Amino acid sequence: MLTLSNLCKRYPTGDLALTDIDLTLPRGQVLALIGPSGAGKSTLIRCVNRLVEPTSGSVTLGGVELTRLSGRRLREARRAMAMIFQEYALVDRLTVMENVLSGRLGYVGFWRSFLRRYPQEVVAEAFHLLERVGLPHAIDKRADALSGGQRQRVGIARALLQRPELLLVDEPTASLDPKTSRQIMRLIRELCAEHELAAIINIHDVLLARQFADRIVGLRAGRIVFDGRPEELDADI
Ligand code: ADP
Ligand code: ADP
Repeated sequence: MLTLSNLCKRYPTGDLALTDIDLTLPRGQVLALIGPSGAGKSTLIRCVNRLVEPTSGSVTLGGVELTRLSGRRLREARRAMAMIFQEYALVDRLTVMENVLSGRLGYVGFWRSFLRRYPQEVVAEAFHLLERVGLPHAIDKRADALSGGQRQRVGIARALLQRPELLLVDEPTASLDPKTSRQIMRLIRELCAEHELAAIINIHDVLLARQFADRIVGLRAGRIVFDGRPEELDADI
């Protein structure tokens, strides 16, 4: 479904962040990207949706070469990818429901004055997702009143409301305690199965990667040094 081919990224500073990345991700597969800080994990995730512009190579999603698109066609293609962030990236002054709804339009602030006219089926879908992530009682709370784990659950519901085919997840547990981290990873894992979603999860914690991913890709200095099933990964990596 997603194919990266010969992907390279050199930043203007001269840092070579990715070299010759070849990767094919089938529908529904959950891939954990591991490797030391500076290995290129964030750059790889951001090259997929072109938040970072690759220097060379191609990104193809569902048969469409994203690296050839621009403007409106790129924005449309990007809708098939939803991002979940390390710091949740919620709008603090908006409620939980408002934050989730922003996933559908992708532009907070614009739709707020139109809330009453917001399609009821989208609101119902958002409510259903908030139930699924365990927050049905919190829909009217402001985002800044939530714990870290709750904020990440909102981020997950918002991403799913976008009805993506691919989740791009950047260090989802970096700010969470170990128990909450496992709960969040389990939730992402289950939702990927329920919605037949593929995911690339950039994660420092190798134990979590082993426990919750179908496949592990190890990066080191911008190159793939491991690509296989969790049980094939040597214990010392
Ligand atoms: P992480 O370990 O999650 O990659 P970093 O501390 O390496 O976090 O990077 C944090 C932010 O700084 C990122 O947005 C990254 O793109 C940016 N960054 C990292 N290295 C450089 C650099 N050499 N020059 C400019 N920006 C950088
Ligand atoms: P990771 O996510 O694995 O920690 P990154 O993708 O953040 O790795 O960084 C890979 C390399 O690219 C590092 O050498 C980092 O310093 C460099 N880098 C990251 N972001 C930037 C940036 N915005 N400008 C310049 N160099 C960057």
